[in-house]
Amino acid sequence: MKYQPVIGLEVHVQLLTDTKIFCGCSTKFGAEPNSQTCPVCLGLPGALPVLNKKVVEFAIKAGLSTNCSITPRSLFARKNYFYPDLPKGYQISQFEDPICQWGWLDIKVDGEETKRIRITRIHMEEDAGKLVHGELSGPGDGSGVDLNRACTPLLEVVSEPDLRSSDEAVVYLKQLHQIVTWLGICDGNMEEGSFRCDANVSVMPAGSSTLGTRAEIKNVNSFKFVKQAIEYEIGRQIELIEDGGTVVQETRLFDPDSGTTRSMRSKEEAHDYRYFPDPDLVPLVISDQWIERSRQELPELPEQRQRRFTDDLGLTLYDAEVLTSSRALADYFEAGVAAGGNAKAIGNWIMGEITRALNDSGVSIEACPVTPGQLAELLKLIDIGTISGKIAKTVFEEMWKSGKTPQSIVEEQGLVQVSDSGAIEGIIDEIMAANAGQVEEYRGGKEKVFGFFVGQVMKASRGKANPSVVNELLLSKLKG
Ligand code: ADP
Ligand code: MG
Ligand code: ZN
Repeated sequence: MKYQPVIGLEVHVQLLTDTKIFCGCSTKFGAEPNSQTCPVCLGLPGALPVLNKKVVEFAIKAGLSTNCSITPRSLFARKNYFYPDLPKGYQISQFEDPICQWGWLDIKVDGEETKRIRITRIHMEEDAGKLVHGELSGPGDGSGVDLNRACTPLLEVVSEPDLRSSDEAVVYLKQLHQIVTWLGICDGNMEEGSFRCDANVSVMPAGSSTLGTRAEIKNVNSFKFVKQAIEYEIGRQIELIEDGGTVVQETRLFDPDSGTTRSMRSKEEAHDYRYFPDPDLVPLVISDQWIERSRQELPELPEQRQRRFTDDLGLTLYDAEVLTSSRALADYFEAGVAAGGNAKAIGNWIMGEITRALNDSGVSIEACPVTPGQLAELLKLIDIGTISGKIAKTVFEEMWKSGKTPQSIVEEQGLVQVSDSGAIEGIIDEIMAANAGQVEEYRGGKEKVFGFFVGQVMKASRGKANPSVVNELLLSKLKG
């Protein structure tokens, strides 16, 4: 039998606010345990939460960027469960009437049609604290709890079960990741857990319209692991059904070391969260004006920018996608074009030399030592024939190291391209005289020797001879 996998993702996005969602404590990472706490985030009796307006603004931006409707009156609820890292005994989240609903993202897997993935909801919630085991935990070597992270603002983005393969899931997740980092509302660091995902996976007979029973996989903190976890889980469920078993609804944990998932708790052991509206927080009312203002403030999003790069600047879709992989990269590219560079050439250099140099030196595009303006000037020197494309790479390396302008490097090092046919003819004559044997071979029909002569001329000119002039002159002289 053939099976159809079905996947829905629940993504947690940690927001880049300076302070926590319901108190003024700092959200800075890495401080001394429990140094960033107050009665509110410690959950002390009588302390009252006050909603951080920035969190609401970030949530609205996320919603508008994912085609959601913004709920005019949304509610906060208490999600009750017991765990030592949750001092209040409940987490403040949204249940009914979340801030954003009914959105979607259009995704495209290579070689397939564009497909719409519906987003059920985006809601705001607070994070829990963290358990610390061993020596860091304080006196003795038992376990302790660090509440610095308690009350850190999160968005949870829940998709409909519209994804049909691990590839679709990864493309969707990458697109969401790109949007929240582009908006500047999340740092996107998956390893540190700023952007994390639970994958719900089920399988059903191909052609069926009834979804199978799902397992929810926790703890997948990289794109690669998401793919691995989903694929393993699909295989496991199919095998189970083929062997006459049934999939049970449960929470499973992904183990990156073995690439497998294992059961964590079954539905019977699942929590009954007993959600109810939080009486300490008034309903959140968002006016149309507020939504409009947020819409005005939205930056041009990756998709719109890609379209402008292809339609107005003539880039291929592939190049446009690479150049919008981050907002900073897209800004760099556009600054280069604005400085007079040819779009296609600027793009190629960014995707080639610049990316290579950034990777080699571990520098981010924001700190690139060659400015977009300098890159544009370098390309202009190629355009007007002052230097060859090959020499430009040497000049680029020098620009990277010294920060000097391309013009000054070309002058200092005497790298100006030689296009003068008299000078080049002289070199060619010398080389032909010194290699009479090869000249005979060429004239005898061995055309491959041509490359040898090009190489010799370029070498003799220290790379400065204009390659097209060299080709032309060599051809006529060798033909004799
Ligand atoms: P819960 O409230 O228990 O978390 P939801 O109905 O909110 O369950 O669904 C959570 C996630 O599971 C959503 O992303 C949804 O798309 C996904 N999901 C629901 N049913 C299935 C299914 N049969 N197969 C795969 N994913 C599913
Ligand atoms: Mg859920
Ligand atoms: Zn606090």
